[in-house]
Parts: sequence; C-alpha cells; structure tokens
Amino acid sequence: MLTHFIGGGPVAAGLGFPVHDPVTGTVVRHVHEADPEVVDRAVRAAREASRDWAAMPVGERAGWMRRLAEGIEERFDDLVAAEVADTGNPLDQTRTLDVPRGIANFRAFAEMAAQRPEDAFHLSGTFSYTVRRPLGVVAAIIPWNLPFLLMTWKLAPALVSGNTVVVKPSEHTPGSAAIFAEICAAAGLPPGVVNIIFGHGPAGQLLVEHPDVNAVTFTGSTRTGSAIMRTAAQRVKPISFELGGKNAGLVFEDCDLDRAVEGTVRSVFTNGGQVCLCTERVYVQRSIFEEFCARLAARAQEVEPQPMISAAHRDKVLSYYALARSEGAKVLTGGGVPVFGDHRDGGYFVEPTVVAGLSEWSRFNREEIFGPVCHVAPFDSEAEAIDLANSSEYGLAATVWTDGLDRAHRVAQRLEAGLVWINTWYVRDLRTPFGGAKLSGIGREGGTRSLDFYSEPTTITIKLEQPDA
Ligand code: NAD
Repeated sequence: MLTHFIGGGPVAAGLGFPVHDPVTGTVVRHVHEADPEVVDRAVRAAREASRDWAAMPVGERAGWMRRLAEGIEERFDDLVAAEVADTGNPLDQTRTLDVPRGIANFRAFAEMAAQRPEDAFHLSGTFSYTVRRPLGVVAAIIPWNLPFLLMTWKLAPALVSGNTVVVKPSEHTPGSAAIFAEICAAAGLPPGVVNIIFGHGPAGQLLVEHPDVNAVTFTGSTRTGSAIMRTAAQRVKPISFELGGKNAGLVFEDCDLDRAVEGTVRSVFTNGGQVCLCTERVYVQRSIFEEFCARLAARAQEVEPQPMISAAHRDKVLSYYALARSEGAKVLTGGGVPVFGDHRDGGYFVEPTVVAGLSEWSRFNREEIFGPVCHVAPFDSEAEAIDLANSSEYGLAATVWTDGLDRAHRVAQRLEAGLVWINTWYVRDLRTPFGGAKLSGIGREGGTRSLDFYSEPTTITIKLEQPDA
C-alpha cells in the first residue's frame, strides 16, 4: 500500500483505498487515506523544515532543484509507468511531454529564481529596495489529468522560492507522486521540505483549513476551487487557482483548412479531452462550415478512444451526450461507448463525439464536460465570432485559425482568455504567464508570476543622511 511521505520518510497511517486502471477498470494499487492526524503531522514537518530552507541562499536551493531534476531522469521509466497506469494517458505523450515537463519545471524555475533581479530605487535622500520572503508552508492540491506535470509545476517555484510544501495529489493518481517522494529521499533533500499526503477531497479540505498552512495553490475544477476559496478566506490565505475551461476554437475562412482541421482534432481529443486547455466549442465561418464539419467528423472517427479517468467521470461525459440529444443537437459522429472486444471493455471509454445545432445558452455549451467532445456552430462575421467565444463564463484558453495576420492579432487581443493560440495549440513557454480569466482561475503562474505568488515582498527604505558640509 502506498504510504504518505512526511518529514523525509514514509508514514503508513489512515485507512486504505483502491486506485483503478482506467483502461481495464482493475485495481492497480491501494493507498493510505490521510486523516486529521496525518495532515497535522505533514504540516508540522513542513513548518519545522521551513526556517532553514527559507534561510538557504537561493542559488543553493536552485542546486537542489537541479538535483531533483536529475532524480526524475534516473527514475524516468518508473514515473512513466506509474503515470500511465493511474491516468490511462497515452504512453507516447507521457514519455515525450508529461514526465519531461517535470524535469523542465525544476530546471526552468532554478534558472529563473537564481537570476531574478531585486528592485532598488533612490528618492530624495532615501534608498528603497525590496526583498522577497517565502510564504512559509504551501499546500499544493493537484488534479488527476496530468498529475506529474502539474505537481512539479507548483513544487519547483514554491521550493526554489524558499517555501516548504505539503502536496495532496488526486485520489485517482497517486503513483507518480509516491515515486517523487522516493526521489526526494534518495537526493537527500532536507526532511520536511517536501511532504506528500494521499487522500480524497476531505484530506485537501483539512490541509487548506490548517492554521499553519500559509498559502494554497490549486489546480482542479471551478467547483472545488470555490470551496477552497471559502475555506482559505477564513484566514485570508493567498490562493492561486488554475480551474476549469470551456474553450473556444475560432476557424476563419482564410485559414489553412488542413491545418485547422488537424489542429482542432488535437485540441478536442488529446487525452480524451481531459486537458483543461482542450477545445469544447468550435465556431466556423459559414462559408466553410459544411466542409469543416464533414472533415472534422470524419477525422474524429479515426481518433483512438482514450479512457476517462473513472467510471463516474465516464458516466458524467455520457450524461452530456444524452443531454445534447435531449436539447435537440444533431450528433455528427460518436455519442456512445466503443466496443473493442478485448481487455479494454472493462475500462472507462467513450466515443470521440462531434455535435451541432445547439444554442449558446444550452447547458451543453455552457458547462465544462472534460471529455472527447465538441459542439460546432457557424458564424458570419469576425465580431460575432468574438462575441460567441466570449459568451462563456469560463476564460481559460482559445485557439484562432486564420492566415490573416491582422485578423489573428485583432481577434486574439479581444478574447477573454488567459491563453490564446494562433494556428497552433498547447505550446507552452514556461516563462510566460499561465492561467485563466473569469471562472477559469485566479492569478497567473509561469515565469516570474510563479515566483511572485510563492513569495512576499518587503520594501525596506533607509534615510541616507548627507554628511555635514
Ligand atoms: P477536482 O476539483 O475534483 O479535484 C482536484 C483536487 O482537489 C483533488 O486532489 C481533490 O481530491 C481535491 N479536492 C476535492 N475537494 C476538495 C476540497 N473541498 N478541498 C480541498 N481539496 C479538494 O478536479 P479533478 O476532477 O481532479 O480535475 C479536473 C478539473 O481540473 C477540470 O475542471 C479541469 O479543467 C481542471 N484543470 C485545470 C487546469 C488549469 O490549468 N486551469 C489544469 C488541469 C485540470
């Protein structure tokens, strides 16, 4: 059974719960569930480690980050295997993107933190400068869709900024975090700097509530974010939230149609649509609408179905397929459950699906589904396309497909989204801000934005007396 990692070592406490392989539905591992005592122990370990870790020069902490990156490289295959077993994500994607991103996260934030200049100003006989102090103990609460990538995305900037961390991975995907605990121990990271506790939502809630937790970084659903915000508000804890999306793709008639179709297929169906950046609403200029829909539906039929993370999530996605029909949608392709005739029939699969014919105000077009599905609708003008994209309560990401240079920038700058891709999707430079507008999040991480969140500035001003003449 997987144990918690507290104060540099394993802690086997709390009841056990099973984790299922989404591909077959079988149990892959059992995990301890953190109870109030475990949560308290983890936070106390982080607090104890906090003083020495915060006092360490940033260059030295950056060295630790590089050592952790090396540790990930050494355990690369184990991490890939654990991640694939828990998430059902494609092996190739896990090898080439998800686990390598963990290495990149530690290396990138080590560089950025070590090179960061401080502010310093002179003003009428005074000198002011700013130092940045760590926040103390940070709680990091992680979802199941890209567990290792997202955990390291938070850990690296939090640690290099001098915080100690208690991580709570998703109850569905503890495997890679458990291996990361071993990497920390093998690297000799000071005990208590990284602590990992396993469990469901209530364990996360206890962590957020704990009076000795100074800040909360969370990636997950808007609903959980809202609950965490209410809890964190009681002690006015800083929060950084990366939440859900209902992302729009805008396809203009002056696009390269092959590229737009292929890009839309990727942005809708990658990981079975279980990436927060996936497109669920596609708007296509009327002159190319019919052709685009026909090509998208044909390509969707060729997409290999990916498993949903759990039976419950599969049922949720299927309930949206049923909802689309009851709201009067035309199903262009998919809408059901694939039958493989092999071991995957015990898993949690749904068909890649494209629907059309619903209004902007249908529930289907307003709520995040988080499955391999999109709705396609026509538009007539650029202004209408922008209004449609912005009609969502969410504002995480958008894609624009056009060969018009002016149009590309004009449209991108008017979209109410934290991220806009033009003629591409999912490309990330870790130095740029990442996050969402409206219901999709609070704050931005990435580059210096992460370092800002995980530290607190103190402005120090000294009067510079002039010597007597
Ligand atoms: P979720 O909100 O159900 O759970 C996320 C984490 O929060 C889990 O670890 C869970 O145990 C924990 N949790 C649940 N209730 C809690 C509570 N009351 N207090 C504290 N912690 C609690 O999300 P999920 O289903 O794991 O992930 C899918 C969601 O994540 C989607 O909405 C997706 O859009 C979003 N997501 C967003 C981004 C982004 O960068 N914006 C990235 C990935 C996923």
